[in-house]
Amino acid sequence: MNAEPIRLMRRGLMFVLSSPSGAGKSTLARQLLDADDGLELSISVTTRPRRPSEREGVHYHFIDEVHFKRMVERGDLLEWAEVHGNHYGTPVEPVEDALSAGRDVLFDIDWQGTAQIAEKLPDDLVRVFVLPPSMRELKARLERRAEDSRETIGRRLAGSLDEISQWSRYDYIIVNDDLERAFEAVRGILTAERLKRDRVLGLRAFVGQLLAEGGELIDELGGEETPRASSS
Ligand code: ADP
Ligand code: 5GP
Repeated sequence: MNAEPIRLMRRGLMFVLSSPSGAGKSTLARQLLDADDGLELSISVTTRPRRPSEREGVHYHFIDEVHFKRMVERGDLLEWAEVHGNHYGTPVEPVEDALSAGRDVLFDIDWQGTAQIAEKLPDDLVRVFVLPPSMRELKARLERRAEDSRETIGRRLAGSLDEISQWSRYDYIIVNDDLERAFEAVRGILTAERLKRDRVLGLRAFVGQLLAEGGELIDELGGEETPRASSS
């Protein structure tokens, strides 16, 4: 008997990258999105001023405080937080659309937002935290990025101590010393998490079919005494 092959499907997962500002999560996020067609970025809303290199609707939706407050009140945000004196939040609708279509969503959000998602949707969440190799290197990266004022860099460096102290809330920790190695590590985590048994739909039927097919092949070979397995 040649049964129809069973298609294995997967629920979409939420892949969070957090780090103190300047540790390299946006760089890693960009590389991951370029390398992986099955992943889309959750584009946050923020009240922070746009940096010269940023584009509306690509890096963020830049909105004012009144608009942000309205979104919070309407329940339009999956999570939101105040970071370095500005508000940031994740619009819920695009995330729900992607997950229900089996697509994975990448989030570049802080620990407060990650904790809120963990409360709401713990099973679909993978949390990765990126650390700098040293604080001196973190400061150097913030300065090299050269997109923030000296005062802003000082504020971000002070805030990074708070962010770093939240490391143990995460499933995976990556020290971003060598960028290529850090990227391979992030990619490996995504690959492994996609293969987790509980995320794959149809496995029981698929294995049942393998066992039935195996049984038929053994029968054809006349192996009556061969013990048979069950799919559970
Ligand atoms: P974040 O999103 O965490 O604030 P970015 O991705 O913007 O950080 O990185 C901050 C700066 O550090 C950028 O100029 C980036 O090119 C640089 N950078 C990222 N990773 C590394 C690394 N492993 N080695 C050296 N520079 C890096
Ligand atoms: P930046 O201003 O450097 O783009 O981001 C500052 C911090 O805000 C980073 O730690 C970033 O991960 C976080 N962030 C960006 N978008 C969101 C969001 O939608 N929600 C939360 N909670 N944090 C965010």
